[in-house]
Amino acid sequence: MQITERSQTAAAWLTMPAVPLAGWALADGASAWWLLPSALMYAAIYLANTAGAHRLFSHRSYDCSDLWKRAMSLFCTLSMQGSVVSWAHVHVAHHALADTTEDPHVNGWGYMLNRRYRPVDLRSKIVARLLQDPWHRWLHYHALVPVLLLAALMAAVDPLLLLFGYLAPLGYFFFVTGVHMAACHRSGEPVNVPWMEILLPMGEWRHRDHHDRPASWDYGPWDFGSWFIRRIKR
Ligand SMILES: [Zn+2]
Ligand SMILES: [Zn+2]
Repeated sequence: MQITERSQTAAAWLTMPAVPLAGWALADGASAWWLLPSALMYAAIYLANTAGAHRLFSHRSYDCSDLWKRAMSLFCTLSMQGSVVSWAHVHVAHHALADTTEDPHVNGWGYMLNRRYRPVDLRSKIVARLLQDPWHRWLHYHALVPVLLLAALMAAVDPLLLLFGYLAPLGYFFFVTGVHMAACHRSGEPVNVPWMEILLPMGEWRHRDHHDRPASWDYGPWDFGSWFIRRIKR
């Protein structure tokens, strides 16, 4: 029940069409209030990935309460981007091997439709420590359980809740991460794409700066993740 490359790819194919489908449902008379659960879920999975999996669990650039750690690791898993254990494992290796033939990130537009990573042997202390925590260990090995439970629960309440509250925000996040993988490493090096902060807000677009200063949690005034971390860090 782990999240694999194959299940990530299947989730991307299943959820990205949910974005235009939600638009069609709105045009067909669905209430605009359905956009509220979409926005809330997108904010939750974006923050869980950028503030949680990335800046907290991979780089340990700040600290926060256990409740926030639990919530962010759960929503990271619900976003089908991998457990925070596999996220941190791949990401620490990406920083160590960026833009080499061993970089686990396969950058480019292909990532949008085919989630593929190069295998890495790098054994990081972060991953070993995360796996000691029963919560992270359970989420890592049973990641698809909360995903399927949430989807079933939402579908039972209302199929439109599943569409607007989960599938569409997940699909939009897959789209944003796909653009990120294509735009933020070009010509063999990480690059900043600051105008994307306006075009596709709630993404990480100052990637060169991040590779230069991976221990910093502050990505600038237009970064919603930095705003959020300022409120939860201790
Ligand atoms: Zn990078
Ligand atoms: Zn990083």
